[in-house]
Amino acid sequence: MAKLNQLTIHALRDLLDSGQVSPTEVLDACLKRIEQVDPQVKAFITLIPEAARARAKQLEDLGKDKLATHSLAGIPFALKDNLCTKGILTTCASRMLANFIPPYDSAMVEKLEAACAITIGKANLDEFSMGSSTETSSFFPTANPWDLERVPGGSSGGSAAAVAADEVIFALGSDAGGSLRIPAAFCGLVGMKPTYGRVSRYGLISYAPSLDQIGPLTKDVTDCALVLNTIAGHDARDANSVPVEVPDYTSFLKEDLQGLRIGVPREYFFPGLDPRVKELVQKALLRLEELGAICEEVSLPHTEYALPVYHLISTAEASSTLARYDGVNYGYRAAADDLDTMLQKTRTEAFGPEVKRRIILGTYALSSGCYDAYYLKAQKVRTLIKQDFDQAFAQYDLLVSPTAPGVAFSFGEKEDPLSMYLLDFCTNPLNLAGLPGISIPCGFIQKMPVGLQFIGRPFSEGTLLQAAYAYEQSTEWHRQKPDLDNDCI
Ligand code: GLN
Repeated sequence: MAKLNQLTIHALRDLLDSGQVSPTEVLDACLKRIEQVDPQVKAFITLIPEAARARAKQLEDLGKDKLATHSLAGIPFALKDNLCTKGILTTCASRMLANFIPPYDSAMVEKLEAACAITIGKANLDEFSMGSSTETSSFFPTANPWDLERVPGGSSGGSAAAVAADEVIFALGSDAGGSLRIPAAFCGLVGMKPTYGRVSRYGLISYAPSLDQIGPLTKDVTDCALVLNTIAGHDARDANSVPVEVPDYTSFLKEDLQGLRIGVPREYFFPGLDPRVKELVQKALLRLEELGAICEEVSLPHTEYALPVYHLISTAEASSTLARYDGVNYGYRAAADDLDTMLQKTRTEAFGPEVKRRIILGTYALSSGCYDAYYLKAQKVRTLIKQDFDQAFAQYDLLVSPTAPGVAFSFGEKEDPLSMYLLDFCTNPLNLAGLPGISIPCGFIQKMPVGLQFIGRPFSEGTLLQAAYAYEQSTEWHRQKPDLDNDCI
C-alpha cells in the first residue's frame, strides 16, 4: 500500500476528511521521507519541522469538519526559496541573502496559511532563479530523484525534486522563462505557469518582473487545479495582478476533448530537439485526437527570436531588480573603509558567476547607445512574438509542444551558458507573451521522464487543465515513481 507521503492532495483529502488519518500522521510521513532521502536529493535549503508539527497540532484541534472546508487543509508543501516567509530564512540560493530573514510574508504564504496547508520548508533553486538545472545555487546542487547523477531542472529544481521524491505533497515555484515547466518535465510532474497577472507576486523576490509568475508543481493535474484554486486571484499589492474572476478549476477536469482545436507550432520541433522526445510528443498528439481533439500544424514565425529577446529583456530587468543588493539595505555586506569599495566588494563577493554575467549583460543592453539597438528592439520583437500567438489563437483553443528539448542531463554536462539557455526554447516564448502553460508527463526515455507542454490564451488555465487532465487520465505516466529506496539507505 502507498505511504501517506506518496499520495496526492485529493487522495489525502478523502483520508483526512473521513478522519482515517490526521494532519500529524501525514506530516510525519513526509518528515520521515525527508530524513531518509534528502541527504542525497538535497531539495531543501531550510526545513521547519517544529513549526510544521505545531501547525499540524493546531489544525487537529480545529477538528476535521472545519478542516474539510479547505481543500489543502493539513497538506504539507514546500516553497521555492525566493518567496518571502516572515521570520524564516529566504535566501534565493545566493550568498547575498544567505542570512536574510524577511519581515513579512509573501501573498502565497498568506493564502496557503489561510487554506490551512502546512509549510515544511524552503526549496533550493538556481541563484536568483537564473538557470535551468539548480546548479547555479550558491549552496549546493539538487539531484533528480529519477537519477541522482542528474539535474532536476531549474530554476525551481528543489521544489520539483521535493515533490518527485515524495518529500512533500506539492510545492510552489516561479517561472520567468521555464522555471516551473522544465523541472516538471525533468522530474515527471505537472507544472503550471499561470497567465501573467493571475497569481500575486507580492513577496516574490523577482528575477524579471515582467516575465515572472508563480505556480504549482504537483503529482497530477487534479492537484494542480486544487492548488491554483487557492493561489489565483487579484492582489492590489502586485501592480500587475489582474482582477479576473477565479473559476473553480476542478470544474474543468473532464475526460472529453470533443471538438477542441489544437495547433501544433512547427517551429517548436527545432533542430535541437531530441528525436525521441519528438516521437513521444507525436504519440501524445495521436492520443489527443483519439480523445476528440483536432490537431493541425500552425506556424509561429518569430519563434527563433524568442531566446535572444528573452535574454535581453530578462537580464535588463535583473540588472535593475538586483541593484538593491548594495550591502546597505539588507543582505551581505563586505567590510571596507569607504562606500565605493564596500559596494564593489559586496557585489563581487556575494553574487555567483551566472548572476554577474546577467547583470553585466542587462546593464549593457540598457546603457545609452545600446538601449535602442538591443533593449528597445527586443521589446518590439516581443510584440511580434505575442502577435504570432494572437493569430494562432484566432484559430485554435490551445497549442501543444514539447516542454524541454531532451531529458534531464548529468551535472556539469552543460558547461557553456548557451547550451543551458537553449533548454528554454519552447518555454520562454510564453513568458514573453504572458500566456499560461502547463507541462505534464508524456513518457520516458531510458527511465527519465519527458514533458508535454500545453499553451493557452490569457486566463484559459481551465482549458489547459481540461486537455491535460483528459490526456493524463488516458495514460499511466503520472502513476510512475522514481525508485529512490535503493539509492538512499
Ligand atoms: N532557465 C531560464 C533562465 O535561466 C528561466 C529562468 C526562470 O524561469 N526563472 O533564465
